Amino acid sequence: MDLSRFEADHFPEIREGVRRLCAQFPGEYWRRLDAAREYPTAFVDALTRAGYLSVLIPEEYGGSGLGLSAAAAILETVQAEGCNGGSAHAQMYTMGTILRHGSEDQKRAYLPAIARGDLRLQAFGVTEPTSGTDTGALRTTAVRDGDAYVVNGQKIWTSRAEHSDLMLLLARTTPRDQVAKKTDGLSTFIVDMREVRGKSLTIRPIRTMMNHATTEVFFDNMRIPASALVGEEGKGFRYILSGMNAERVLIAAECVGDAKWFTRRSVDYAKAREVFGRPIGANQGVSFPIARAYAMMRAAELMVHEAARLYEAGQPCGAEANMAKMLAADASVEAGNTCIQTHGGFGFAEEYDIERKFRETRLYQVAPISTNLILSYLAEHVLGLPRSY
Ligand SMILES: Cc1cc2nc3c(=O)[nH]c(=O)nc-3n(C[C@H](O)[C@H](O)[C@H](O)COP(=O)(O)OP(=O)(O)OC[C@H]3O[C@@H](n4cnc5c(N)ncnc54)[C@H](O)[C@@H]3O)c2cc1C
Repeated sequence: MDLSRFEADHFPEIREGVRRLCAQFPGEYWRRLDAAREYPTAFVDALTRAGYLSVLIPEEYGGSGLGLSAAAAILETVQAEGCNGGSAHAQMYTMGTILRHGSEDQKRAYLPAIARGDLRLQAFGVTEPTSGTDTGALRTTAVRDGDAYVVNGQKIWTSRAEHSDLMLLLARTTPRDQVAKKTDGLSTFIVDMREVRGKSLTIRPIRTMMNHATTEVFFDNMRIPASALVGEEGKGFRYILSGMNAERVLIAAECVGDAKWFTRRSVDYAKAREVFGRPIGANQGVSFPIARAYAMMRAAELMVHEAARLYEAGQPCGAEANMAKMLAADASVEAGNTCIQTHGGFGFAEEYDIERKFRETRLYQVAPISTNLILSYLAEHVLGLPRSY
């Protein structure tokens, strides 16, 4: 079943390669890990070895230098094949902060090793328990002490920290009462966790409704070299923001992939399952929700492509990246809900993988940015409505 003409027109060879790779990681693989809440190390290793996680790294730093659309095609296909790219997607785009704002020394030190898979940059420490979405209110501090910074505080929802060598960290370097705007005085650091883990850095896993390897992390007088600072001190919030459009587009592509997986499953089952002597799909009460979910997915897919096109052309794409993320997350939840309904009782059975995929895709209504905050952005920055917070 061909769910979209984009698949034939955009990176068909890459999609085919990803499909072949994903075929080695069928539903049973993910089910077993999901039950044990284990990290899909073999899957992430395979993606890394095949070079799929380094497509955004320029060739001069050892990557393949492909654009955001290629990365989106990879992650969309991973999801559409029933796998979970949430275990690896950060390795693709977190390095963008180093690429855009790091020094040449940092780029040479990290990017080729990340491209080879020798270094894992999978952890991104921004969210804190007290500040939540209000990033400017974060409390973790980094205080300069000679040729080092001393970090104290706590992050929450730092995903994959246990499966990463490096962490991109946002911390306050100038006290809140000494800066004009609360988003000033924050700095970005590239932290080598291998040197501090289990000492001044403590990582505690958080068990969640889906298998996402997320954690809370505690910094207790954690000393990091001053050379870990990325860009200029006090400008870290801007550096983090600059990576967000790419992240939104890629997560949106994952949601489009999820929606395709759900819709394919719904269609197959609605054709095959016979009740009252005919396929359930012959009932419009069954087929219409599937058709509606398909239409929502296609609309979201168009917005993902538009956002990626603008991003690659170096044009502003904040509105499109945000809309893509919201529309795609809505489309995947709608398609997932419809898939459960289409399967009746079997939609809840683990062996069908639907309930697992539904739990996984539900996350994207909240992370990496919640739907309300996207609507606030559109209302204020696109439509010119009064700021709500
Ligand atoms: C599994 C998982 C993995 C994650 N991974 C990472 C990670 O790797 N790194 C990282 O830094 N963070 C990560 N996050 C954090 C994620 O980005 C946040 O959960 C998300 O941004 C929402 O923040 P919060 O949970 O603090 O919710 P809050 O900010 O407390 O908001 C709670 C609710 O209130 C709503 N709300 C808040 N303010 C407003 C407002 N002004 N107007 C309207 N509605 C509002 C929100 O939309 C939300 O629905 C992860 C989260 C989860 C659950």
